[in-house]
Amino acid sequence: MGRDRRRWSGRRAGPYRTCIGCRRRLALKASVRLVRDPQGGLLPDLSGKLPGRGAHLCPDLRCFELACERQAFQRSLDASAQPGELGPLVERLVEGGLAQTRALLATAARSGWIEPGRDAVRQAVTAHQAALVLLAEDGSAALRAELGALAERERVPCRQALRVVELAQYHHGRDLAVLAVRHRGLAARLLEELDRTQALSASLHGPRAPVPRELTGNPGGGKMPLTQGGHGPSRPGKGV
Ligand SMILES: [Zn+2]
Repeated sequence: MGRDRRRWSGRRAGPYRTCIGCRRRLALKASVRLVRDPQGGLLPDLSGKLPGRGAHLCPDLRCFELACERQAFQRSLDASAQPGELGPLVERLVEGGLAQTRALLATAARSGWIEPGRDAVRQAVTAHQAALVLLAEDGSAALRAELGALAERERVPCRQALRVVELAQYHHGRDLAVLAVRHRGLAARLLEELDRTQALSASLHGPRAPVPRELTGNPGGGKMPLTQGGHGPSRPGKGV
């Protein structure tokens, strides 16, 4: 219930929300929003735009569990939740985040804002034209180390997501182990989506769990850049 912390949020720092699970403040952009569905259950707001009263949470299954224990869904949304529903709910948020990531990449590719492959990415990063470097989860460890270090040196955000064959759809169907996004706005939205989705996925599967079935999560638990290389999932590298 609301001890009002808005006065600390300050416009300059961007909007904040309080997580109804852990009660900590987090940036709106990093949060997950839920609304009440017509039957009184919980509905993930994947677009962030569903009308009606919403509740915000950290992208972390534990905060969903805390909110459930504290009856916070009831209080904030007049919605009921059983503990067993929370995992599947977070799964849906992960799937939604991945779908959104793909849609953003498709937009970037269609409008020519993607640099595909090692050489093009190197060039874009060193020319300060890259706003984000995205490495496939199953690309080679050497490539991840090389471009992770380069991106860190040039202060370009670098993340791992999706697989070589999935990135291929942004490269005329040819396997792709790395790409750079040049459009700053698209890159910023991709970063939000990637970080939230990876946090959700890690909270479900644990940071060291193997990649579940398909394409979710980042088994290394986290964010690039990798600076020393050699770790991470050891699957044979492929793609360019
Ligand atoms: Zn929280």
